[in-house]
Amino acid sequence: MKNIIGGAIALIVIAAIALVFFIIPARVDASLNQVIAHAPYTVSAQARTLHATIPVADLHADTLLWMRDPTQRQTRGQTDIPRLIEGGVKLQVFTAVTKSPKNLNYEENDPNSDDITMVAVLQRWPLATWGSLFERALYQAKRLQKADEDYGSGFRMVRNQSELRRSLNVGALAGVYGIEGAHPLEGEIENLDRLYDAGLRVVGLQHFFDNELGGSLHGTSGAGLTDFGRAVVTRANEREMIIDVAHSSEAVVGDVLALSTRPVIVSHTGLQGHCDSERNISDAMMKAIAEAGGLVGVGFWDGAICTPDLETIAAAIVYAVDLLGADHVALGSDFDGTVTTPLDAAELPALTQALLTSGLDEGTIRAVMGENAVRFFLENLPAT
Ligand SMILES: [Zn+2]
Repeated sequence: MKNIIGGAIALIVIAAIALVFFIIPARVDASLNQVIAHAPYTVSAQARTLHATIPVADLHADTLLWMRDPTQRQTRGQTDIPRLIEGGVKLQVFTAVTKSPKNLNYEENDPNSDDITMVAVLQRWPLATWGSLFERALYQAKRLQKADEDYGSGFRMVRNQSELRRSLNVGALAGVYGIEGAHPLEGEIENLDRLYDAGLRVVGLQHFFDNELGGSLHGTSGAGLTDFGRAVVTRANEREMIIDVAHSSEAVVGDVLALSTRPVIVSHTGLQGHCDSERNISDAMMKAIAEAGGLVGVGFWDGAICTPDLETIAAAIVYAVDLLGADHVALGSDFDGTVTTPLDAAELPALTQALLTSGLDEGTIRAVMGENAVRFFLENLPAT
């Protein structure tokens, strides 16, 4: 009898562990990163032929936040290396999320709560990541490096211009590592160098809350760069890291444009004149970013473009091209960034089709779908 009770308790404990650490995290991931159900998209021969010749590039995906193997094709979420390759992607920025307040919204968040702690625990991340934003960033950089080692020659984590050029020459997918908000620096400039050594090349300054560097677009202060923020921008310039002002307050964007000696990106956004959302900064600010040689990645989700369908993504891109010029517009999917999108990475040829249907010429489509971003990274990553 004792053995039966002991066995039953053991079974219940095993079932509870499976539920908490395996089943619930997978369910949460699947429900937060959905593709809208749709009939297969029709892609013409012209669109397929055009798409096949474009080095497709995307400035922002949060793949590394989720505990699915990025080297394997998954049945949940919007990205993995096999689906990115199927979609013709040759350059993807993989961004680390390290802190995210509860009750996330685009209007106002305070920094005093964090859902990523629970994500780290439930997904069985290393103990060091549970209490340290720096360790969370480092861990996600290591995940990208491991994907490079595990996948084989079709995927490369790249750190400089020559590695990117080599990856493009063999038709591989290149992954660049970035952070979504520089709070994992934990207020210490030396941590920027440590993350550089781990592969960091795209430095997002803020995420959903004001941090040590300055105000978030969705924070409480609306403040510009702090002294620490200015030190990080200067150091990132020196180390030839790319600064990303997605999620930054307009005051921070203005300060960065005045201070930075290098062009910046807005990795994932919409255009306010196209979609009047709290997620989008003013068109005038976007123009200033473009005039400084910057690049604007157009997103695929409702907060950025208001209506998440292919036609509206194309319309947002057409609007951005008209406003900023064809050389300054790119893709910024926000795949796997807890957004619902009308397509996954494998379905990107359908976006080329939507851009053709919208009336854009093939040269502009090539630029927006990838050539602009490839050129930008070939010019702005460290040379070697
Ligand atoms: Zn974001």
